[in-house]
Amino acid sequence: AKGNGRGVYRFYSSDMHADAEDRRRLEEDLRDALATDALHLVYQPVVSSVTEQITGYEALLRWQHPRRGLIGPDIFIPIAEDTGLIAQIGDWVIRTACKDAAQWVGSTRVAVNVSPIQFANPSFPSTIMNALASTQLSPERLELEITESVFLNDNADTDSMFARLKALGVRLALDDFGTGYSSLGYLKKAPFDKIKIDQSFVRGAAIKGNRNSAIIKAIVSLAEALGMDTTAEGAETHDELDLIRQLGCSHVQGYVYGRPMGAAEVLERQLSAGT
Ligand code: C2E
Ligand code: CA
Ligand code: CA
Ligand code: CA
Repeated sequence: AKGNGRGVYRFYSSDMHADAEDRRRLEEDLRDALATDALHLVYQPVVSSVTEQITGYEALLRWQHPRRGLIGPDIFIPIAEDTGLIAQIGDWVIRTACKDAAQWVGSTRVAVNVSPIQFANPSFPSTIMNALASTQLSPERLELEITESVFLNDNADTDSMFARLKALGVRLALDDFGTGYSSLGYLKKAPFDKIKIDQSFVRGAAIKGNRNSAIIKAIVSLAEALGMDTTAEGAETHDELDLIRQLGCSHVQGYVYGRPMGAAEVLERQLSAGT
């Protein structure tokens, strides 16, 4: 048993070494990614349950790596956060999403994911203000998606950041609701316009006897009582879609309605639907 234990240990340690090496290389490559235009945004439709119209799109970051191909944000956002690169990358995301959305038709919204590190930066509201001013995007068309983790260091600065963002006229959404630090206290004081119900609750919710539907129902009634919208994330099947609508979620986002696409494709679709 002892021999096995050492074998297992050796396996893990060489594995971890490879991971560290790998990560260090990715870190270096990520520094170049902005300068070489290797990052881009794709946009996934968010659909109203009532009208079945697209009300907006969530901007999702992608990295076209010169050798490894397309890399998803779950891999490189944590690296960007650890190295501080998230500041620059986050600024670029906001500017690009505002610029793209300003080209779209009507009042179509764009939702942007905000890292807790961006949220903690006192100059974050002026970054938002500058992006809105230079693109002429009206503030109510920009929605900032913020996760529960910003409340881990809940203090006067957190409160004032919410107040400053709200004062800009942008919309605020609480992302990945129910997966993180769980306290309902912040729902009472933070001025959210929307709760995004994490896809872990949506997945399987349509299966008979699954408890997720009870949880979704409770979140929807909580949100309604607080005057907030709800978006169910990651709906893949028509059964999930029917259930979500039956449970009263105001919006749905997921493969059942569409995968993320480029900004130009969003515009093309809008223009061809309008004619
Ligand atoms: P998220 O904010 O929860 O975004 C939703 C994720 O679910 C996206 O993954 C989206 O492609 C995926 N998704 C949407 N519908 C479905 C579905 O029906 N089925 C399944 N299986 N998945 C679906 P993605 O694009 O890989 O993004 C992962 C996470 O990376 C995001 O989770 C968000 O936390 C983070 N992220 C993405 N873009 C940015 C960004 O610009 N800045 C920051 N800070 N984080 C970002
Ligand atoms: Ca999000
Ligand atoms: Ca989410
Ligand atoms: Ca997520």
